[in-house]
Amino acid sequence: MGPRDGHRPGLRRADLLVAGGGPAGWSAAHACARRGLDVVLVDPRPDRTWRHTYGAWCHELPDGLAPGVVAAHDVGWAIARHAHWLDDEYAILDTPALQRALHDDGVRVVRGRVVAASEGRAVLADGTGIPAEVVADATGAVQALSTRSDRARRAEQTAVGVVVDEATAARVTDGRLLFMDWRPRHGRPGWPTFLYAVPLGGGRVLLEETSLARRPGLPLPELTDRLCRRLRAAGLRESEIPLDDPARVEHVRFPVDTPAHGSPDGVVALGAAAPLVHPASGFSVARSLRVATRLADALATRSDDLADVDTADRVARARQATRGRAAGVVHGMRRRGLDVLLRLPPGEVPEFFDRFFSLPATHRRAYLGSDGSDDDVLRAMRAMLCVFARLNPRLRGHLVAGALCGPGAAPPD
Ligand SMILES: Cc1cc2nc3c(=O)[nH]c(=O)nc-3n(C[C@H](O)[C@H](O)[C@H](O)COP(=O)(O)OP(=O)(O)OC[C@H]3O[C@@H](n4cnc5c(N)ncnc54)[C@H](O)[C@@H]3O)c2cc1C
Repeated sequence: MGPRDGHRPGLRRADLLVAGGGPAGWSAAHACARRGLDVVLVDPRPDRTWRHTYGAWCHELPDGLAPGVVAAHDVGWAIARHAHWLDDEYAILDTPALQRALHDDGVRVVRGRVVAASEGRAVLADGTGIPAEVVADATGAVQALSTRSDRARRAEQTAVGVVVDEATAARVTDGRLLFMDWRPRHGRPGWPTFLYAVPLGGGRVLLEETSLARRPGLPLPELTDRLCRRLRAAGLRESEIPLDDPARVEHVRFPVDTPAHGSPDGVVALGAAAPLVHPASGFSVARSLRVATRLADALATRSDDLADVDTADRVARARQATRGRAAGVVHGMRRRGLDVLLRLPPGEVPEFFDRFFSLPATHRRAYLGSDGSDDDVLRAMRAMLCVFARLNPRLRGHLVAGALCGPGAAPPD
């Protein structure tokens, strides 16, 4: 039987087919395979090595991560007009080690591109059909299986970073892990950007000029220019800024306001496709790692006394476990928070973050979702009200205007 006949030889019906082999797809595939489910994972380049620098707060990472996955960790600082010690340890992941840890020989890996899913099977671009009881869309911001087409211009996080040795980095950071340093030491006017400076392990440090979110994303050449200016202002020579060494440069561009997934029958969305991305921070990896276990618990009911649960129920339970109604409400509130951020006049941004980082840690964590409050509407609302209460009347005015006016575009530079 050839691919055009509908089935690839040897592909028996899977319990779960995961479209997309990024962190979300592999977290889910790994967790489900460990629970004894038959899992197929499809990706156009399944052997691609992950290279992005992923960071997360230590307390949001699941227990039991394989040794070596956390490459470095330290207590973070945030600097706006004042310096704030953040109490919380921030971790940088060894991304290839994470990829190795999530790999599971029990998962059947297929090279291909999923283009559709319906009635218990996924269809690849070459016409192959793979039967599966449940299909997970983990194709990232592409949302390959979403029925919704939303052409609105996305707000994007963009950044440009270089990797330098610790001693060189310390001349810029005073040896601190800087979650955000908003001081405009690049000397450029306009859209505010900050320095993200984190240890990578092995005596290396990433120094990254970052635009948290902008619609459209701040262009990478502008970020490169700002990074160079900032590093030169700290005394680094041109030869100490390795922009011409691709192995020591990181380019970041991804959307932070991907629309809610329009999931067809039998499909559950994961990771950035869901979207599980926090609109204000852009983070999703730690959440995807946590959600994977819940998904596996929901799907593994087959082997429990709920063996007669039918497919529609199983999918409903999987959706509830990964991004239920409450999580959708919290996400909507955070998207409003993003709109507010995008509408703040550039000069007000450092003041806003000064107030934000002086919040009690419990509220800060709830706002960032790092305490697992992604599906706790009351806790998320309390955190947002607490931010509001911290602000001066001028900032409150901007907040109200931003919340009422909806998505803002970037002003002309
Ligand atoms: C440089 C960089 C740094 C970042 N740093 C952080 C960070 O510190 N913390 C954080 O939480 N997030 C970070 N992010 C955001 C990060 O990209 C996402 O959080 C994360 O990659 C999302 O994982 P995912 O598995 O959902 O999607 P992706 O990583 O986008 O993976 C999607 C996968 O689906 C595959 N695919 C696409 N279309 C199809 C199809 N039709 N069929 C089958 N497969 C398909 C792709 O090939 C890819 O392998 C960073 C992003 C970049 C670019």
